[in-house]
Amino acid sequence: MLKRFLPSAHVKSIFDITPEKLKEQGIEGVITDLDNTLVSWDTRTATPEVIEWFAKMKEQGIKVSVLSNNNKERVSFFCDPIGTPYVFSARKPLSKSFKRAAREMGIDKRKIAVIGDQLLTDVLGGNSAGFHTVLVVPIVQTDGRITRMNRMIERRILNYFRKKGLIDWEE
Ligand SMILES: [Mg+2]
Repeated sequence: MLKRFLPSAHVKSIFDITPEKLKEQGIEGVITDLDNTLVSWDTRTATPEVIEWFAKMKEQGIKVSVLSNNNKERVSFFCDPIGTPYVFSARKPLSKSFKRAAREMGIDKRKIAVIGDQLLTDVLGGNSAGFHTVLVVPIVQTDGRITRMNRMIERRILNYFRKKGLIDWEE
């Protein structure tokens, strides 16, 4: 049952995810979380590095869309200036919005990587809906939107995977 929380891959940050590496794995599209994945939860707009990351993906033909549980105001204010499609109030880990994002991208889910910083929403939801999943280290550890309870559960699951030798990173 815990397997549903095991990401296909884990990296330090989105900047470790390049179009070249995605293509090697046959990935054509990315569905990414916003808060604490692309920027810290209290950063309103994309940083120059994030803008460049999106540009590189586009140049290399990788489609990117943002999938966030945050509200319309937050998500549209971030995404509109960089011209990326998005789904807000996504209710991750429910599958529905993941499938909707994939449908709008016109890409088969087996060719899409779901990226996010939370096991209980991004990874669980992405795995359950049949996507490739990539866990990133949260940009900041504090997050006004995540309960301490969630982080505690996550830490326990990560520790379990570490003990089993399924993941090899340190916090
Ligand atoms: Mg997040």
